[in-house]
Amino acid sequence: MTFHGVRGSTPCHGPELVGYGGNTSCVSVDIDGEAPIVLDLGTGLRYFGHSRPVDEPFRGTCLVSHLHWDHIQGLPFFTPLLREGSRLTVYAPVQEGGRTAAQIFADSIRPPLFPVDLAVLPGIVDVREIGDSSFAVGSAEVTARSIPHLGATLGYRIDAEHASVAYLSDHQMPLDGSFAATANAKELCRDVDLLIHDAQFTPAEFARKRDWGHCTIEFAMWMAAEAGAKRLALFHHDPTHSDDVLDRLGAVAEACGRSAGIEVFMAREGMTVQLGSS
Ligand SMILES: [Zn+2]
Ligand SMILES: [Zn+2]
Repeated sequence: MTFHGVRGSTPCHGPELVGYGGNTSCVSVDIDGEAPIVLDLGTGLRYFGHSRPVDEPFRGTCLVSHLHWDHIQGLPFFTPLLREGSRLTVYAPVQEGGRTAAQIFADSIRPPLFPVDLAVLPGIVDVREIGDSSFAVGSAEVTARSIPHLGATLGYRIDAEHASVAYLSDHQMPLDGSFAATANAKELCRDVDLLIHDAQFTPAEFARKRDWGHCTIEFAMWMAAEAGAKRLALFHHDPTHSDDVLDRLGAVAEACGRSAGIEVFMAREGMTVQLGSS
């Protein structure tokens, strides 16, 4: 699997951010011989698109956690959709408020917000709403469960033949700063080979932004330990966290992880992680 965007909230840019990158949430999972599975459609999706063969239509599946900008903004810049015959199947959480996820994508990617309608692109974007559910994508089993954030949000787990990965990009921890998680969140992370988890805040930042829908690095570490995850990728970095800050936070987290028997690392744009054996 490859990280194409690891940033939370908004894309950001600057010489102090080039190490970890400034694109928002997008991770691709490649299983040998199968169409890719993409986790979220943040601005990192544009770079995933550039990595695909240009002479053939794209086929793949995206699992969208929720519809906040930082998780969908890359979609209209996904160049494989400019090729006839391309098809992206998008799973997104059932929406509250009367509009379906498909309508919200169509309403967001159209004039005056975007120069053209999503529907006029040659490739097909097939948006399907899901609640808590399990389904197959190729040979992989996908589990979707609602998790606490702001608005309808899903966490995902992908179980393939030789490896499993859980993705909880935006996860509200208890407002009082304690460590506890829902049965859904624990189920997604249970004994997983790699947990990709929200790591937006330091404890001091969380104290000022308790109800913003996120958690601390310490909470992500607790979640991994509690669930028996083997590796933890700290993800959805705050846009104000420079490379120096992330290096410093990462060194502490990695050391703590080592003493707890968990391999912890800071997700970084462009990083590829091999899972399982093939
Ligand atoms: Zn987010
Ligand atoms: Zn969000």
